[in-house]
Amino acid sequence: MIKNKVVSEQTKISLQRAEELKSRIEDYIQIKPSIPKGIERKEEINARKARILEVLGATEEDWNEYKWQLSNRISDADTLAKVLKLTDKEINHIREVQSQFRWAISPYYLSLIDPEDACDPIKLMSIPSIVELDDSQNDLDPMGEEFTNPAGTITRRYPDRLIINVTNECAMYCRHCQRRRNIGQEDCHNSRAMIQESIDYIRDNEEIRDVLITGGDPLTLKDDMLEWIISELRKIEHVDYIRLGTRTLVTMPQRITDEFCEMIKKYHPIYINTHFNHPMEITEETKEACTKLANAGVPLGNQAVLLNGVNNDKFVMRCLNHELLKIRVKPYYIFHSKHVMGTKHFNTSVDDGMEIMEYLRGYTSGMAIPTYIINAPKGKGKTPLLPQYLISKGTDYIKIRTWEGEVIKVEDEPAMDVKKMILDAIN
Ligand SMILES: *Cc1c(COP(=O)(O)O)cnc(C)c1O
Repeated sequence: MIKNKVVSEQTKISLQRAEELKSRIEDYIQIKPSIPKGIERKEEINARKARILEVLGATEEDWNEYKWQLSNRISDADTLAKVLKLTDKEINHIREVQSQFRWAISPYYLSLIDPEDACDPIKLMSIPSIVELDDSQNDLDPMGEEFTNPAGTITRRYPDRLIINVTNECAMYCRHCQRRRNIGQEDCHNSRAMIQESIDYIRDNEEIRDVLITGGDPLTLKDDMLEWIISELRKIEHVDYIRLGTRTLVTMPQRITDEFCEMIKKYHPIYINTHFNHPMEITEETKEACTKLANAGVPLGNQAVLLNGVNNDKFVMRCLNHELLKIRVKPYYIFHSKHVMGTKHFNTSVDDGMEIMEYLRGYTSGMAIPTYIINAPKGKGKTPLLPQYLISKGTDYIKIRTWEGEVIKVEDEPAMDVKKMILDAIN
C-alpha cells in the first residue's frame, strides 16, 4: 500500500464503476464452477473410457483410430446397459424408438455421459428416449428441403451459396437431428454420379461463390473421396471458398488426423463449422482436434442448437462460448430448434434464446457472441433474432437501450455530401 496517496475524483469514480461492473457478473462467477466441463472432468471420462474398452474388448490404440470408433459405434441397448445405468423400462424404450428412428453413438462420445445421471445433457442428445414417439404435430421436413433441390444432392436456398449433401452417415445420430428423414437404418454415401451432378450444377451457375459440404457428416467419408470433391470444386473459378460442416470434432475427434489436415491445407481457403452444444463436449481430445485444424489454417466456427434441458440456460451458453474460444472455435450461430418430428421435447420458446442473447452482449466479449437464428418455415431462410436495442427514432435523434438497460438519446443526422464539400473547398 502506498501511504497518503491522493486519490483523484476520476479514480474514485472509476473504482466505483469497476465495482459495479464486477457485480454484473457475480451470479455467473458463483455458478460457473458447477457447470460440468469436459476439460475439467478428464479423470471421470478416462475411467468410463476404460470401462467401454473392457466391454468392447478393445485397446487404447483402437480408441485413437477413427475407423475403429466409426465401425464400433454402439447401437444396441444391451451393450449400452453395460456402460450406462439404465432401468428396464428405459432399455425397452430404446428398443421401441430404434424401430422408428435410428440411433448410434461412438465409444468416445459415450464416454462423456455420466452413467448415474438419467438426464445427462450428452445422454439427452445421443440416447433415444420414449418421448421421441410422443410427437404428432411436427413435420419431418419443415424446411422444405425436398423443394429446394435443383440438382444432384444440392439444397439451394440463397442467391450466392448452397449446400451439397454427400452422405447420411454420422459418428453419432443426434436425437435433435433436423434431417432425421434422411437417416435410414443403413449408412449411405451419396453416389459419385449424384455428387458429380451437384458439382456440374455449381460449375454451370457462376453466381455460386460459396459451397458448403454437409450431410450427414462429410467427415465419415474417407480422405480420398473428400479430396476428390474438394479438388473438383477448387477447379471452378467462381467458387471463392469451401466450407465443411461436421460434428466429428465433437463426437469423434479422432477423425482429425495429420493426414486429413495435410490434405485440407492444399485447398485453402477452407472453413469448418462444427456443432458443440454443451461445455461438457469440450475435452482434451476435441481441443487437440481443433488445434490441429487451426494450425492447418482452417478457421473454425460453431453452430449450436438451442435445446431444452441441454443448453437453454444463459450461464451454460455463456460458459460454452468461452470454452469454445479457448479451443480456437468462434461461436457463429445459435439456432432456434425446428419443429422436426420426434424432437418436440427439445423445443424451447424464443424467450429462452432472447434471454441468452440479452446476457451475452456487454456481459462478455463480442468474440463470444454468436447470431441467434430462427429458420423461417419452408426454406425461406435463416432469420436473425436480436433483443431490441433501438428503442425509437426521431428526425435527428435515436433512443437506444444499453446492455445494462439504460435508455439514452443519441443524435442522428443524415450523412453529408462529402465529395461536394471537398470539391467546393478546393476549387
Ligand atoms: C445454412 C445454409 C447455408 C449457409 O448459410 P450462412 O448463413 O451463409 O452460413 C447455405 N445454404 C443452405 C441451404 C443453408 O441451409
